[in-house]
Amino acid sequence: MKNAVVTGGGSGIGRAIADRLRADGYNVATLDLNPSDTQNAFIANVTDRAAVDEALAGIRSQLGPISILVNAAGLDSFRRFSDTTFEQWQRVIDVNLNGTFHCIQAVLPDMVEAGWGRIVNISSSSTHSGQPFMAPYVAAKSAVNGLTKSLALEYGPMGITVNAVPPGFIDTPMLRKAEGRGFLGDTDKQIEQTPVRRMGKPEDIAAACAFFISEEASYITGQILGVNGGRNT
Ligand code: NAP
Repeated sequence: MKNAVVTGGGSGIGRAIADRLRADGYNVATLDLNPSDTQNAFIANVTDRAAVDEALAGIRSQLGPISILVNAAGLDSFRRFSDTTFEQWQRVIDVNLNGTFHCIQAVLPDMVEAGWGRIVNISSSSTHSGQPFMAPYVAAKSAVNGLTKSLALEYGPMGITVNAVPPGFIDTPMLRKAEGRGFLGDTDKQIEQTPVRRMGKPEDIAAACAFFISEEASYITGQILGVNGGRNT
């Protein structure tokens, strides 16, 4: 049975991915900032390499080597670019991009050793077109897409695929928080502007991840699969 790690697996999209992979028969552990009631829940800040290494060591001793990684931990921010301090910029880059770096680098040895691996990075639909007041977030998520493509080329020969899913307008605590703070505009209007006329569900993202992770997707790597109801084409 293959072992999977889902970062940000305590909430929203990460949680739905962890549930879906469990239902598909994988052993799943989650990495998140806070305790959660999910099975095999480990706490680590993905920006802290020592904490990531320690949590992964715990997962390995509980489950064995890790062959699947989904990077779903993320942090948004809304601020005019000229009002953004370097520290605020750095924090968003740190969680969304550097956290992805740490987690991938820390699990790769298991995958290389096994000659098989699956990495899925959750980026953002904002990378298709940019997003005002979200420059650090869009910059970090765009870099995640670039990282995905480069690693796909580097690790394809070792049996490891690397793909990205950029979600758009998914009903999660992160999105509802942004809505509550007035950063999203009118949700009903947003639904009207979405070709499939609904918000996305975390399970929509989980389904795309499950496909990338499946054996059937072994010829698919370096791809960015938008799951956004047609908001970005
Ligand atoms: P969410 O409900 O807030 O889930 C994100 C999870 O990541 C939370 O449990 C959060 O913990 C955790 N996290 C944040 N910083 C972390 C860190 N430094 N180390 C470890 N865990 C950390 O948000 P979501 O909407 O499901 O987002 C999941 C991913 O999808 C994110 O990468 C997000 O950027 C991306 N995304 C979402 C949407 C959308 O429409 N919802 C659109 C585009 C992209 P805390 O709650 O304790 O902070």
